Amino acid sequence: MPADPVALAHELLRCPSVTPQEGGAISFLEKILISAGFAVHRIVFSEPGADDIENLYARIGTAGPHLLLAGHTDVVPPGDEARWRHPPFAGDIADGVLFGRGAVDMKGAIACKLAAVLDHLAANGSQPKGSISFLITGDEEGVAVNGTVKLLPWAAARGEKFDHCILGEPTNPTQLGDMVKIGRRGSLNGSLIVTGTQGHVAYPALADNPVRRIVAIMAAVMAEPLDAGSTHFDPSNLEFTSVDVGNKTVNVIPPEARARFNIRFNDRHTQASLKALVEARARAAAQGGHFRIEWDPSNADVFLTKPGPFVELVSSAIAEVTGRQPELSTTGGTSDARFIKDYCPVVEFGLVNATMHKIDENVATDDLVALTAIYRRVLDRYFNCPINSPP
Ligand SMILES: [Zn+2]
Repeated sequence: MPADPVALAHELLRCPSVTPQEGGAISFLEKILISAGFAVHRIVFSEPGADDIENLYARIGTAGPHLLLAGHTDVVPPGDEARWRHPPFAGDIADGVLFGRGAVDMKGAIACKLAAVLDHLAANGSQPKGSISFLITGDEEGVAVNGTVKLLPWAAARGEKFDHCILGEPTNPTQLGDMVKIGRRGSLNGSLIVTGTQGHVAYPALADNPVRRIVAIMAAVMAEPLDAGSTHFDPSNLEFTSVDVGNKTVNVIPPEARARFNIRFNDRHTQASLKALVEARARAAAQGGHFRIEWDPSNADVFLTKPGPFVELVSSAIAEVTGRQPELSTTGGTSDARFIKDYCPVVEFGLVNATMHKIDENVATDDLVALTAIYRRVLDRYFNCPINSPP
C-alpha cells in the first residue's frame, strides 16, 4: 500500500512545534525513518542567549549519488487561536482541505517527501541506488542559530557529502507547479548615522543640522539603481526602513540623525562591493560633513543554482505531474538554502505559499498527493529507477 502523505501531514500538524518547541514532530519523523531503515541522529544545538533546539539527520544507503532532503518542523505561532476556523494544531480535514499551522510551511512538504521516499524504497528493495538523507531542523522560523547553520557542518565533520539538495519551502504563489526557486538574493542591513552640532533653531549658523545632511545622503544613496539586474535576478534594491531623530522639541537643532536600511542584492554584487558603492555615494553627498555607516553582520549571501541537469530533472517532474512548466525564480526572502548552497547545489520546491504564517493556514489534500508524486518522480529519475508512480 502506498504511503499516505495526507495522514502523515495530519500527524505532523498535531505536533505543537512552535519554535523552539520540538512538539513531538522530530520524534514522529524519527520513528518512521528508523522503521524504514534509516540511521537516525537527533542532535541538540545550543547557543548562549538562545533556546536549545532539537534537530534530526537521517541517512539510508552508503553509495553515491547522495540526495539531501531538507526542511524544518518548527512553525510560527498561530496568533489568536479563536480566529481559526479549525484549531491550529488539530490537523482537521474539511472538504478536501487540511488545516493547521505548518500545513504549507512546511510540514505538508515534509510529509510528501517522507511518503515519496517510503514508496520509492518499497518499489526498489528497501534500498536506494545511492543515498537519501533527511536534514530536518526545529530552528528555521526563529533566530535560526541552532538549526541548519550548525547541522550542515556537523554532518560534514562526520564525512557526509551531498550531491544535490531539495528544500521543501512553499514556493508556488497560486498553484502547485508555478515556481521553483533556484537561488535567493542576499540580504544586508545597515545604519546611517549623521552627527552635527546641536543648537538653537533661530541661530542655525551656530549649529550644524544633521537632518539636512542625512536627507541629502539618503537621496543620493537611493537616486540610482544599485545595478540593472542579471540573467536570473531582479535589480538589487535598497530600502530605508526607518529614519530617527528623536527630537521632542520645536526649537532645538538636534545633534544626530539616524536611518536604517536593508539591501536585497543579486549576483552582480558581494557584500563588500555593496558596502563600497553605498559608502561612495554617501561620501559624495556628505561633501566633507560627518557621517558613518554601521553594517550588521550578515550570513545571507546571494546564491544561484545554475539551470542544468538537476534543475531540469526537478522541473520536468513538476511539469509531468502538474501540466505546468515552473518558472525558475530567485524572488522572495532568504531561506536555509543560503546555508545549504555552501555544501551542494540546492533547489527549493514545495507547496502553495498563499496561506503561510496566516490564520487558517491550509493545504488542499490533492496538492499533497501531487507533490508526493513530484518528489517520487525526482527520486526515481535521480536514482535511475523506472518511474512507478502514477502521473
Ligand atoms: Zn518555512
